[in-house]
Amino acid sequence: MFVAIDQFGNKLNPIETEEEELRLLSKSKMLFCPECLTVARFASGEQVTAHFKHVQSPDCTYDSEPETEEHLKGKMQIRNWLVKRYPEVYVEFEYKIKETNQRADVIAIFPDGKRVAFEMQCSKIQGSVWKERHALYKKAGIQDFWILGNSVHKYGKTEGKEDRDKHQLLSLASTIYQTQGAVLFLNTNSISVRGLYKHKFKYMHSDTIMKIDEEIYSLEVAKIYKNFIGTDAIKDDFKTWYVEKLKKEKEAKEQEEKFKREQERQEREYEEFLILKEKKREEYLADLNSTTLEQVKTKMTNNEKELFERLLKKHGYNDANFPGIFNVFTDYNYMFHSPPQLWQLWIYDKYIYRKNPPYDKVWVPKIKDQFYKMRESGVFRFKYKHGDYHFSFAIYEYFERLNLLNLVEQLGYQTTKYHQIMANELPPFSGKEMNNYIAYYLSFENECSVASSDKTHEIREVFLLYKDMIRQFKEYNNIQVDEELITKLEYAKNLLIVSSELGNEWEIKFISKMADLLKNNYKLSQKQYVKVKLIIERIEKQLNISLVRN
Ligand SMILES: [Zn+2]
Repeated sequence: MFVAIDQFGNKLNPIETEEEELRLLSKSKMLFCPECLTVARFASGEQVTAHFKHVQSPDCTYDSEPETEEHLKGKMQIRNWLVKRYPEVYVEFEYKIKETNQRADVIAIFPDGKRVAFEMQCSKIQGSVWKERHALYKKAGIQDFWILGNSVHKYGKTEGKEDRDKHQLLSLASTIYQTQGAVLFLNTNSISVRGLYKHKFKYMHSDTIMKIDEEIYSLEVAKIYKNFIGTDAIKDDFKTWYVEKLKKEKEAKEQEEKFKREQERQEREYEEFLILKEKKREEYLADLNSTTLEQVKTKMTNNEKELFERLLKKHGYNDANFPGIFNVFTDYNYMFHSPPQLWQLWIYDKYIYRKNPPYDKVWVPKIKDQFYKMRESGVFRFKYKHGDYHFSFAIYEYFERLNLLNLVEQLGYQTTKYHQIMANELPPFSGKEMNNYIAYYLSFENECSVASSDKTHEIREVFLLYKDMIRQFKEYNNIQVDEELITKLEYAKNLLIVSSELGNEWEIKFISKMADLLKNNYKLSQKQYVKVKLIIERIEKQLNISLVRN
């Protein structure tokens, strides 16, 4: 301790009182502890900073821990720094704070009454103890700075070896750093400060080891700022860092708001979509049983009507046999202004109807492109985008429904873009009501597959019947085609045998083998089929005949 009293209660300290006098008082046992009033003695020497200590060690709070040389030196250096740097300030050692019964190692009382306490902490108290003491200072309205002794500082380790780029913060240092944004160590030999500041922070390795840019400066140049001790350069760095931090926080907030707005937009759009879809669905259901093809035509432009009439004529469709498969409701039908009867029939006619290998596959993006072209030439009307929705979604969904009938089959699990044509022609199916059932089933399959009423049960039965008809019709058609092909092959073989200039020996063998395969109910591979077709077409061209008619 740096304070003792004489028999009159006068405070004495080793700086302001002559050493000679203090020695004398000490010898005559005239020095007392200001707290417990027991006898104190004066100690000083070449290796010892002048100070007082209890003669006996009673249970006194004044210096409950034995004072180390580092502690004594540190307190003295802090006091000297304050006196020199702030001449107008009242500085005192071991100042008792009545409000909280604490004793600050050094106190600085500014002219405006502001009190700043300094603690030179050289023992490893726990962070929680520091928190309590810090809270007491706050309660008393005193700003407190804790300066740790260099003996408390520890370097971190890398692969078991001390690493001077790392600082291992123990409980006390770590708590101060986290709470105050900085922790300072005073080297009492060089009278310099090692400061670790949050704005210099690099990264934290674990709870306590951090890589950090440390600031080392002489205590002499240190200054007290609003919330920390440092130098002007450190203050500038801090300011830059703080401005940047605020900017980043602002940006993050803006980003978050933008994201929120986007989400709100999507929600609104989804609501809109549900409303539009519901409206279209109601319209669809109202029209389903009453509308005639003539009425559908009134919703078309002249160009659309012309195309529609041409397709109806080509396929021989009328009100009774117009397939329900061309009146399917999808969630995205609202994107089309052209009636589904037109765009769905057109897809069938152009991409499915009588498509044979190798042209028996559908690539949906191509259809989408074709729609754009048709729109440009003034045939189809559709809104190509509504927020995140695209008119092509209707086409994709339509193909999903066609899969239900096994008219096409999606190729691969990952993509809905590519479909194999399973049947390239629809069987005749008459009856307006029956066709409406098919339309209804394909539109609302989810509701129909769980037959909840007699009506939906009936609809499902009709759908399954129709699906089976498509399958049978396809098989029948295949046999027809094959019979025709066998006749052609027999004829071509005979012609090749008779006139050698039409082909060669290999072709004769190939043709007879293919004919045999077909006669035995085997199917030709795509390659074989193409080769056979090429030979037949060549002979027909050379002789200018049709092999079937002859
Ligand atoms: Zn005492």
